[in-house]
Amino acid sequence: MLQSMPGQPYSGPWPALTPAQLQLAANLKAHVYRLAHQIGPRNFEFYEPLRQTADYLQLQLESYGYKVARLPYEADGQVFENLETHSEGPFTVVGAHYDSVFTCPGANDNASGVAGVLEVARLLKDTPGLRFVLFPNEEPPFYKSQYMGSRKYVQHLLTQREPVRDMICLETVGYYSQEPGSQRTAFPGMVPEVGNFVAIVGDVQSAALAAQLVRNWQGNITFPCLGLVPTPEGEPLLLRAGMDMSDHACFWAAGIPAVMVTDTVFYRYDHYHLESDTWEKLTYEPFALMIDGLARVLNSLS
Ligand SMILES: [Zn+2]
Repeated sequence: MLQSMPGQPYSGPWPALTPAQLQLAANLKAHVYRLAHQIGPRNFEFYEPLRQTADYLQLQLESYGYKVARLPYEADGQVFENLETHSEGPFTVVGAHYDSVFTCPGANDNASGVAGVLEVARLLKDTPGLRFVLFPNEEPPFYKSQYMGSRKYVQHLLTQREPVRDMICLETVGYYSQEPGSQRTAFPGMVPEVGNFVAIVGDVQSAALAAQLVRNWQGNITFPCLGLVPTPEGEPLLLRAGMDMSDHACFWAAGIPAVMVTDTVFYRYDHYHLESDTWEKLTYEPFALMIDGLARVLNSLS
């Protein structure tokens, strides 16, 4: 049905942060503060803030030395933009959505994912085979529609015949807890009850990619990690549990292997899609340990 792959044991304290990891935690906090607190709700109804967010993301990526392209498309009479960094040769997309839902500041969903993409991009500048992409319109009313930024982006990759290998989606990645009972799950017995880990979720066609990431995590990264992939019979179960609820699903639909990297969203975090999803709710030190681990794993794969 489902296979869970432990990348690291789930119990025990997180390791102490190195000076570089403390800097990473400060950077993540600064990005989340900028998007969720200073800019606030950002979507088709909060259109100017959405543009401000795109400007901020472009400036950040350029400050790390990237060339950034803005790919505009129209939806319901407004122009929305995917942002991508330049890359040569076959590549892995590392992406996140930069809009927030309704009137929500969207600190964890998904300023955290955006902050993670920015910091992985900073840490892995000059690593070949990676392309960093930020999408609008993941949230309703565009969710699962043709106007979702990631759906438009996949179309763009296919029409341009771009050599995309696979995709890593960062969706709600900023909240970790050592409290017993802090983790809920649709899969009792397969997921620990302490929400101190990051999950890497794939579908059947992405099982090899998920396994590769988890294997590389194992033994190299001390932050707890759980891989979750289904057998063909288990896939409907995974989908019913909401594991397709982000931009990676648009890559799945095109037959491109993709995984979601996540703190498990509403199975752990109490402020999902609420106005209380504010910047100070996130746990920046474990968040930084996770992003540091992800960057090391992606570096070892490229
Ligand atoms: Zn959301």
